[in-house]
Amino acid sequence: MLTKAQHILQQYFGYSSFRPGQETMIKHALNGHHALAIMPTGGGKSLCYQIPGLVKEGCALIISPLISLMKDQVDALHAHDIPATFINSSISQAEQQKRLAQLQAGAYRFLYVAPERFESPEFMRTIQSIPLSLIAFDEAHCISQWGHDFRPSYRSIIPNLKRLPNLPVTLALTATATDEVIEDIQSILQIKVEHTVNTGYARENLHFHVVKGVDKKEFLLDFIKSRPKESGIIYTPTRKITDLIYQLLSEQGFQTAHYHAGMSESERQLAQHRFIEDEATIMVATNAFGMGIDKSNVRYVIHYALPMNMEAYYQEAGRAGRDGEPSDCYLLFAAQDIQLQRFLIEQSLLEPGKKEREYEKLQAMAHYGHTHRCLPRYILDYFGDLAGEESCGRCSNCSEEGKQEDRTREAQMILSCVKRMGERFGAQLTAKVLNGSKSQKVLELGFNKLTTYGLLSDYTEKDIMNWIHYLMADGYLSIQDPKFPTLQLTPLAYEVLKGNQTVSMRMSIEQKKNQVDVDEGLFDTLRHLRKQLAESKKLPPYVIFSDTSLKDMCRMIPETQQEMLQIKGMGEKKFEQYGTLFLQAIHQYIQDHGPIERQRPSVQTSSNKESKNMADQKPSYLVSYEAFQGGRTLSEIAEDRSLTVTTIKNHLFQAYKEGHSIDWTSFFDGETEKLILQKHEVLAEKKLKPLKECLPDEMTYSTIKAVLIKHALM
Ligand code: ADP
Ligand code: MG
Ligand code: ZN
Repeated sequence: MLTKAQHILQQYFGYSSFRPGQETMIKHALNGHHALAIMPTGGGKSLCYQIPGLVKEGCALIISPLISLMKDQVDALHAHDIPATFINSSISQAEQQKRLAQLQAGAYRFLYVAPERFESPEFMRTIQSIPLSLIAFDEAHCISQWGHDFRPSYRSIIPNLKRLPNLPVTLALTATATDEVIEDIQSILQIKVEHTVNTGYARENLHFHVVKGVDKKEFLLDFIKSRPKESGIIYTPTRKITDLIYQLLSEQGFQTAHYHAGMSESERQLAQHRFIEDEATIMVATNAFGMGIDKSNVRYVIHYALPMNMEAYYQEAGRAGRDGEPSDCYLLFAAQDIQLQRFLIEQSLLEPGKKEREYEKLQAMAHYGHTHRCLPRYILDYFGDLAGEESCGRCSNCSEEGKQEDRTREAQMILSCVKRMGERFGAQLTAKVLNGSKSQKVLELGFNKLTTYGLLSDYTEKDIMNWIHYLMADGYLSIQDPKFPTLQLTPLAYEVLKGNQTVSMRMSIEQKKNQVDVDEGLFDTLRHLRKQLAESKKLPPYVIFSDTSLKDMCRMIPETQQEMLQIKGMGEKKFEQYGTLFLQAIHQYIQDHGPIERQRPSVQTSSNKESKNMADQKPSYLVSYEAFQGGRTLSEIAEDRSLTVTTIKNHLFQAYKEGHSIDWTSFFDGETEKLILQKHEVLAEKKLKPLKECLPDEMTYSTIKAVLIKHALM
């Protein structure tokens, strides 16, 4: 049956290999085991139920709390020529009746419903009388009262379900679940631990950046100018800032939409629609936006200020790159933003105990802005996900981008200048004084007589401004009243002046151009064709083809049907509908612009190595595993595959978790194993870092991880 699943993956969905976890979930479903999948956003949870739904006879019921997503999912299935529909409160009674009758007649392979539907006796009667292939709970964390998004109607389905004489296999899928929630889902849906698939939280195609010490508006404008055609979301902390940024970007001529809870329902729907249809490339929004947005080609998410906690941040940032293409997540960090969030917590109606907890979470979020560690590593540690690498090599702390130098001397000059100016002026005038400007205001106020006048005349006013912003971001300078942004020294600043504290800062922030790795003109042409088709079919563009498919066409330059069918996401049905049109467009483009060199699929640039691996023939970890079993050493495999030894080790760990055997002797000896297990046993907080700290230095993270993995402790 698995070969059948593999065949469907290729034929209907146009993918050549499964993503981590998919195959195991499908296997459980086909063997009739209730199963739970915890996979990150964009990890490919839908296929976990869509493929078994196609292998088995009957109709699959998909329960989803997000009405707005149902239509998209159904559209996507239709694009593959799979009969599907949804029934929810957004359609008329008459239409509901019609669809129920069709369901009875066996017209659908998939039916999406909201949990409330199970309260309707008529619906219950209908589903009892037809063959069901499976029931899937999407967003399954909503079923648990411990989840952050508990829906009582979700839980009350269970007694109704249990009465079904034809109850099929049940699958639950979620991207966010704490241990408590996982246990809750397992017990409610009677899912065994061994039928739970957890691939962790890591999103390898996302590049995380923290940006400090910039003028945020200027940063946004520069950034968007460098990537004008890409779809992105800008999250702001308040409605007011949303309006402000929306206005700023619209005035500059960017196709922008905005969204917050203060707008009317119809305004919000229109904004969402424009963004999803690629009419607006940029969405500026508060955290009210996003629930139920499945747009796969969001290339960046920028947080204009600190969000309230890590859970919110990762969920919002995670809306980038669902299609697996490299995407960026920026946090524009400034220490004073913490105060706004503190204020919001203070004003909330939470009980005192809960407020305390929220303050703690905010603190962890603020640390993210200051940390020098690898950013995704910091995030994964926060969620207790110990798998994966110690450093990603891509985030702003791991790469050159965030490289800082000791700038204590310059910081002292700036701070003492602020002090000498009486802590009554803003960043701009301070920069002028330090730069030795002869502007009228400087001379009028007599600041040219200060000892700090002209101390930084070797730098530009802009460099000095950036440093001042940086000193604000890191809490050396503060602004008491936002209406009069005058700089003041904080207690931390005095430590710097006294020489007790050093300051590292970045010289300047150059805007990194997005590395477009395909012929941009062709990509544009195909995007345009997709948009036209989408309009005529009234579908979101990414339902026709994802960005990944279009980029793949630009890399492979297919000329025949055979070649076109090799493109990621090009199933046979999709080819029938759109293949020829795209072949013609590519052909025409080459006629007009001359030939384009084909990239062989095996050529991988470092920026998309990870995301490609996910979709290549054999999962990357198995390639490493087989080499290891074949007798090659870790460093030889790393060399062969241009990957790090750490990555190879992680591959082997994954293989072990998937049920392959490993000879552990090359990882640790018996003594080491015993010691690590002993320490682990007594540790209160079972995380990698505290464990490492109570072990001898020579025991590396990899060794510790290996022991824990061998004993299924992580
Ligand atoms: P989730 O529900 O887990 O957030 P989706 O099911 O919406 O994710 O899938 C995200 C994207 O990944 C979709 O565009 C989907 O077509 C794509 N995808 C799913 N499985 C695979 C696979 N095996 N190979 C390549 N792409 C895949
Ligand atoms: Mg999903
Ligand atoms: Zn990193």
